[in-house]
Amino acid sequence: MSEHPRVREVTSLSNATVKELRALHDRKGRRESGLFLAEGARTALEALDNGRAPEILVYHREGRERDVVRRLRFACLEAGGECLEVDDAVLAKIARKDNPQSVVAAFRWTRRPFAEVDPAAARVFVALDRVRDPGNLGTIVRTADAVGAGGVLLVGDTCDPASVEAVRASMGSIFAVPVFEGSEADFLALASRWPGSVVGTALPASKHYRRADLRSPILLVMGNEQAGVTDAIAAACTDLVRIPMQGRADSLNLAIATAVALYGIAEPEDTALG
Ligand code: SAM
Repeated sequence: MSEHPRVREVTSLSNATVKELRALHDRKGRRESGLFLAEGARTALEALDNGRAPEILVYHREGRERDVVRRLRFACLEAGGECLEVDDAVLAKIARKDNPQSVVAAFRWTRRPFAEVDPAAARVFVALDRVRDPGNLGTIVRTADAVGAGGVLLVGDTCDPASVEAVRASMGSIFAVPVFEGSEADFLALASRWPGSVVGTALPASKHYRRADLRSPILLVMGNEQAGVTDAIAAACTDLVRIPMQGRADSLNLAIATAVALYGIAEPEDTALG
């Protein structure tokens, strides 16, 4: 066991920090503490690479000498955080599942309003109108990362980007891509002064998505899983486009549609590719 005063061995399932971490599976717990959970050493390292250290680091005590754990522990302690060395039972309790990953870390969520969006920061941004599914949200953050998007804007009443499911689906990209949150009114205000194209995707649109009128920076707008984009948001778009479909499906899954649209209108350059 480490000599550091902020490294503790915890075996009690009723330990207060264990309870606090377990509460981060619920939106209420995350709101109250301002923290969120990331599972796995790889995701925690992704955070470190993006200049973010965990406030609380939990790892299996048998893995305390692993290089990756040493690196995470050093960063956590340097930033004033605390480390818990735990056994299988405590890890499972915190992760709320059997066979959890051997590292779990709690990070502080930074809430960013739309006023902080800098359109000059990137070629493309993604806005999601009332996204409901955290798996879709995390997958979209990951895809936004892959195309070098400047951020994902969450409009209106959305699922929580800091949920365990969203963070898991983002595969660490949640630490690389800024997520902004705001109301529909805030979004309409931003769209009205957006310096480039605001491209909405909508099933009723009659224009092919690859023929969208594109002026950088592009703000790609995606609709809610059930209802699509609101009329007000559709009216704020400079162009409305549709991805062609055949067959019986009446729409694409939101995360799939976002990936197709993002690559169709803002595919990144990769000079290493033949
Ligand atoms: N019933 C909803 C509707 O009428 O809009 C379906 C919503 S769809 C599951 C969720 C979002 O994915 C849509 O609002 C749109 O942004 C995007 N989407 C899905 N399929 C699309 C397509 N073929 N063309 C354009 N956008 C699409």
